Amino acid sequence: MKIAVCPGSFDPLTNGHVDIINRAAMVFDKVIVAVLHNPNKKPLFTMEEREKMIKESLENLPNVEVESFSGLLVDYARQRGACAIVRGLRAVSDFEIELMQASVNRKLAPEVETIYMMTSNDFSFLSSSVVKEVASFNGDVTCMVPKVVAKKLAEKFGK
Ligand code: ADP
Repeated sequence: MKIAVCPGSFDPLTNGHVDIINRAAMVFDKVIVAVLHNPNKKPLFTMEEREKMIKESLENLPNVEVESFSGLLVDYARQRGACAIVRGLRAVSDFEIELMQASVNRKLAPEVETIYMMTSNDFSFLSSSVVKEVASFNGDVTCMVPKVVAKKLAEKFGK
């Protein structure tokens, strides 16, 4: 069984993430969406909130699981029996950091391949940060995120 890990902060999940996860789920037998617990970052949504929103938004995909992880991504991927890490690329600016990260991960775990999927044109501008900024100023994010995320953002920003 070919298993892939889609790692990220998902603070919160956007339609860009959903697109990449959907496409990964068509290529791999199982996809694990791995939500990073990073003690150095202060996320808007708690780990539980982020996991719940992802589970609800992706419940139509039977071969997708959602989990949290901390520590080294390659250790987690190995532990879950994954042969690949799937990441999305939006712009050239993503490339430099991703190349460095993929090179380090290859050194640490040569058996885990990093695979990049190009963003779909509709989502190339989309990031969790953009969504949070728009939502914080009461902007309409309904075309950028799944329904449940839009609802949670409205609650967070007191609407
Ligand atoms: P990280 O902090 O690890 O980049 P994110 O939650 O921002 O976590 O993103 C998780 C993954 O989803 C990354 O591989 C990122 O490049 C990808 N991604 C985010 N937004 C988009 C988008 N609009 N189109 C394609 N890929 C995206």
